[in-house]
Amino acid sequence: MDGVLNVIDGREVPARSGATLPNWEPATGGALGTLPDSDASDVALAVEAAARAFPAWRATPAAVRSRLLRKVADELRAALPELARAESVDSGKPIAVATEVDIPRAILNFEFFADATTQFSSECHPMEGHALNVTLRHPLGVVGTISPWNLPLYLLTWKVAPALAAGNTVVAKPSEVTPVTAHLLGRMAVEAGLPPGVLNIVQGLGPKVGDALSRHPEVKAISFTGSTRTGAEIARTAAPLFKKLSLEMGGKNPVIIFADADLDAAVTTTVRSSFANQGQICLCGPRIFVERSVYGRVRDALVERTAALKLGDPLLPGTEQGALVSRAHLDKVLSYLVLAREEGGRFLTGGRRAEVGGRCRDGWFVEPTLVDGLDPGCRTNQEEIFGPVAALMPFDSEEEVLGAANGVRYGLAASVWTRDLQRAHRFSAALESGIVWVNTWMLRDLRTPFGGMKDSGVGREGGQEALRFFTEPQNVCIHLAGG
Ligand code: NAD
Repeated sequence: MDGVLNVIDGREVPARSGATLPNWEPATGGALGTLPDSDASDVALAVEAAARAFPAWRATPAAVRSRLLRKVADELRAALPELARAESVDSGKPIAVATEVDIPRAILNFEFFADATTQFSSECHPMEGHALNVTLRHPLGVVGTISPWNLPLYLLTWKVAPALAAGNTVVAKPSEVTPVTAHLLGRMAVEAGLPPGVLNIVQGLGPKVGDALSRHPEVKAISFTGSTRTGAEIARTAAPLFKKLSLEMGGKNPVIIFADADLDAAVTTTVRSSFANQGQICLCGPRIFVERSVYGRVRDALVERTAALKLGDPLLPGTEQGALVSRAHLDKVLSYLVLAREEGGRFLTGGRRAEVGGRCRDGWFVEPTLVDGLDPGCRTNQEEIFGPVAALMPFDSEEEVLGAANGVRYGLAASVWTRDLQRAHRFSAALESGIVWVNTWMLRDLRTPFGGMKDSGVGREGGQEALRFFTEPQNVCIHLAGG
């Protein structure tokens, strides 16, 4: 798509100023087109449209909202190959990942919350026969969503679907790095029959569009996914305005492999948890702790499997490793490879920018990299790299590895590999992590609370948690007898 546009009040429009930003194709390093360089005046128009649409959308019965969300899902499904290709070209991710993960999950987000809103209930607290407390849950009004580039349509719809299902109208700000599928969604939502103004998409830079959304007085809530630094900025802006805030932020997740685990399964899944989407998933586990008695065996198997990953043109069906999302991100990841070496790390495989020929010769590729010899406390193991770089570390005791696993500012997700049931429970409960997987990774049930502890997040998404976030409880106490 050459020219990405905003979708405001059911219409596709450029920024009011006419200004545009360049969009790039990560696999080639070449220009892909443009997107609107929107500003506060575009956000204001979108919020006005959303505010106009709110009373009718709020009054629309949940069953009707549900049917409309299902129609959006149907539009997305009908366009799955087009959307998957667009996501792959825009972000550099392998077409197989976009086809099997990103777009199906975006469709499921709409279907799941279409169902969830018809099943959403609230509480009633009777007071021994003389009063009833009925808790109503009202939609908030106009809400803002701000989402990142790593799973562009998947994470945008993870916010937009519950917000709409709960009866809010939305102004969504996608990442300026990956704007294309958000535009296509805005168009398809209109085609599906979503009334004008119910879902608005405003494209552009974070400090302009995202900031204007965070400080707009009509916007009642901000649901954000992105880096911890940006989350803190949004909180600084929005908290004094008393907006509801959901912040899903960075991670530096541990994978802990005990000697009693099914080591073949642990190795297979750990290659995925290290390098899926080139390590650019908030749930990836770049810190791999392996019990010393099996360290050599696990290390060698991981190295062999990682070196065999097929890196190349993201549009080829067999490609397992695509490009990093931007030139700036490539530079950041390469700088961490230099740091890892300075900190005493030894590259077991990878460690360099990757050369891919043909149309991808100038693309932003990095070899999937495993490094060992690093201390858990060094910067490479403390800071979020968000790329295809994972560190292997041996451990001797459960107590030692628990301290190391928890010894970072983040607390989003963890994978624990053991066949010892008691240890699985004991260890999982002691991890400072919002999500723990035992003997698996990224197995998602959309009903479960999703989010992080510590600097990884505030609040939870998913299922009822998301519907609660996007509604305001109001308790009505009805006196039944007497004065
Ligand atoms: P980012 O923080 O740079 O940007 C995220 C979004 O915020 C973008 O849309 C951006 O334009 C916007 N933004 C930037 N500055 C802003 C400001 N001042 N005010 C308002 N909005 C602003 O993050 P990114 O680089 O796009 O994404 C990668 C990060 O996202 C990583 O840290 C990763 O861990 C995190 N992430 C977290 C989760 C999770 O569920 N916890 C999921 C995916 C990604």
